[in-house]
Amino acid sequence: MARRRKGVCALCGIEAEVTREHFVPQCLWSGALPNRMETVPACDSCNAGTNLDDEYFRNTLVLMFDQDHPQKRELFAGSVKRSFQKHPGWMEYALKKVEVHPLVTPSGIWLGNFPTMPLDGDRFHRSLFKIIGGLFYLIRKQPFPNDGQIGIVGQLCAETKPLIDSIEENLFPPTFTFGDDVFEWRFSQTRDGITMWKLAFYRSVVFYAYGLEYAEDWEALKTAVEA
Ligand SMILES: [Zn+2]
Repeated sequence: MARRRKGVCALCGIEAEVTREHFVPQCLWSGALPNRMETVPACDSCNAGTNLDDEYFRNTLVLMFDQDHPQKRELFAGSVKRSFQKHPGWMEYALKKVEVHPLVTPSGIWLGNFPTMPLDGDRFHRSLFKIIGGLFYLIRKQPFPNDGQIGIVGQLCAETKPLIDSIEENLFPPTFTFGDDVFEWRFSQTRDGITMWKLAFYRSVVFYAYGLEYAEDWEALKTAVEA
């Protein structure tokens, strides 16, 4: 039984009974988990109900790009195959032909057109937001503000290149890894509340993201990118 205590949930910020949550889904590993797994305190509603999200997230990562990573190969032959048998709709969805979709943040900012596999974007993004929220808490010892905004910059294309270049230039040097190259991340932060993130899964699937702790930061970020 997980140890419970009163505290602040690292993921949604409410005060509640919290337990330790593996915010990087454990199902990303096929066999034994790495020795060092980061956890954050999370309330029951953030802790529960994300298993399907995590499963979908893992399946999608494993299907993207190559199967070179040994963990990916094992997952593909094992739990991912079983998962698609259990949820045939997911496979159908994933195998629709590649399309170009505009990527727009929740507040309506257009980030560019992305050639993507059709994704259940909300579901997929929930897993990414949870990971970024957990990492933010590790660094800052406080939850990401509820009125802040996290944006995911999916793939490199002409429209997103300036933003991705700017994030790359600003990242602090160390790369943190969660073992076996399954998950690696880098970040940077500014004094005025902008965090930038690079998340790499299986050394092949990379997402860039930014966190704006205050809504007006978007203007500052745009200026920094355009400079
Ligand atoms: Zn919570």
